[in-house]
Amino acid sequence: MNQVRPTSLGDAYPALCNFLRLTSLTLSAPQLALTVQVGDDWRHGGVMNYGQLPAVTLREVLSSQPMEATFLECDQLSLSTHSQSGLPAEASPMPVLVGRLHSTDHRYNFTIYVPGLAVDGLSEVQIKTLQYLTQQLLLCLALAQPATPSLPHAGAPRLTAGAPLDGVDFLSRVVTLNPGGAIYDRVQHGHPRLADLVAQLQSCLSYKQLGQLLGTYLPYFFPHQSGRLVLFSTSSESFTVLTEWGDAKPLAVVEQQCCYSQEQLPFQPSCIGQECHQCQVSHYPQQATRCIVLGMVNNTTCIVQLVQTEADPFTSVQTALLKKLSEQILFVMQRLLLLEDLQDQALKDPLTGLLNRRHADTVLNSLCHATKQQNISIILIDIDHFKAVNDTYGHQAGDAVLKNIGMLLRGHVRAQDIVCRYGGEEFCMVLLDTTPEVALKRAEKIRRAVKYVTNSFNGQTLPPISISLGVASFPHHGETPQALVTLADKALYWAKNHGRDRAISVDHMLSRAEVS
Ligand code: GH3
Ligand code: MG
Ligand code: MG
Repeated sequence: MNQVRPTSLGDAYPALCNFLRLTSLTLSAPQLALTVQVGDDWRHGGVMNYGQLPAVTLREVLSSQPMEATFLECDQLSLSTHSQSGLPAEASPMPVLVGRLHSTDHRYNFTIYVPGLAVDGLSEVQIKTLQYLTQQLLLCLALAQPATPSLPHAGAPRLTAGAPLDGVDFLSRVVTLNPGGAIYDRVQHGHPRLADLVAQLQSCLSYKQLGQLLGTYLPYFFPHQSGRLVLFSTSSESFTVLTEWGDAKPLAVVEQQCCYSQEQLPFQPSCIGQECHQCQVSHYPQQATRCIVLGMVNNTTCIVQLVQTEADPFTSVQTALLKKLSEQILFVMQRLLLLEDLQDQALKDPLTGLLNRRHADTVLNSLCHATKQQNISIILIDIDHFKAVNDTYGHQAGDAVLKNIGMLLRGHVRAQDIVCRYGGEEFCMVLLDTTPEVALKRAEKIRRAVKYVTNSFNGQTLPPISISLGVASFPHHGETPQALVTLADKALYWAKNHGRDRAISVDHMLSRAEVS
């Protein structure tokens, strides 16, 4: 067995592990594979199998053939869609997303394979995140120690995508990575290096982790200083201490919010890697205190505050290190922002900005499980004759109406309630602590409000629209979220069948049914 051992990739190994982990997260793809070739010699390389693709699938995925017209070139990353060959003729071919990248010095060449995905199935944020991850990986590799691979046996297969694989024990050079387990768990002994920190920064998925990581490394890099890592948010006017280290006494000289309280204007991007200007001219003795802006995205600024505990001045190495670090922190902050976007995207409907159905169902489920006493009401809403809006004024006009209604609904819920787009022209509201009677009143209020909304598109005013609503309450009408939604849907259907433009509760529907 000729396994590609992690050590043969040198410092590139942890960086690649993190790259795979974040790519899997970005694409919501639990399984992917990466072929790695180090240098020109094809014998220095192998396959990293993330998420344990079965051997047979891995083989098929790696020999997938390109499909035309689905190619995207973005900076150092080119993406294309391949189709998995080797399947029975009647089976529809599974797409395989293939991304190629190489380090600027051509020391490493990579091809990433993601089964089940195609280029045109990627969202803008996903592509942006992939580009970003690529950039960061390459930056990391530039800092990595050169790999000194041990040569595998002479008969090892060439690892270029699309190369003939028949009859070759291709999988003998696979590193299998389990996403559940610790991918890179290198314990730092003795002398931590910036490259180690950088590799670990790559896997940071929260500010909390960032704080923990810097709290571990910075004391080594700044042994004669006490320090604190602070996050300032200009949007919420708040500051958070991510980590503190060293002697608390000298650190107490610098107020946690010193940069924030003195900086009236938001920091500028040009401040990154520089000393906080306000602190430089502040009353703190300049020699003994340093506040360095490590990164800034949108309204969030990350600053490290260092106070000397001994007479030694800051060394030029330390200054250079802070500068390098600031580049990396900026990357991490950008990634956290992108991840927030991705999470948002997973929860929200892109047209209206409301929560999507999947998320609303999840929340409703957990609410119904968590509370046995509290009343929870739901209102299902469907726009009347919406197809006619599309048919008469066009799909974009229909979209504008959906956005408008979404906005109106948002204005009719309290902070603790949920409003989501449930499907095409259907919406759902989840009202906490709301009795059936109150919910019906709210539904009636919304129905009337919609009638008075002016919808327009491209300067043209559209005719008024109406909605039908079905109201059901937990636990009064149903004890499971599914039962509740089914009943609300029935009430809505009843409203549709009885003239539309009305709000009907389950009680109302049942009593009418008895009468008729
Ligand atoms: P009813 O009163 O019975 O509800 O009639 P309706 O026309 O509203 O309902 P129907 O189910 O016949 O049509 C729904 C329409 O909603 C058809 C579909 O094209 C449109 N639709 C669904 N999603 C969107 C969207 O995102 N944008 C636009 N513009 N239209 C959409
Ligand atoms: Mg409908
Ligand atoms: Mg409708």
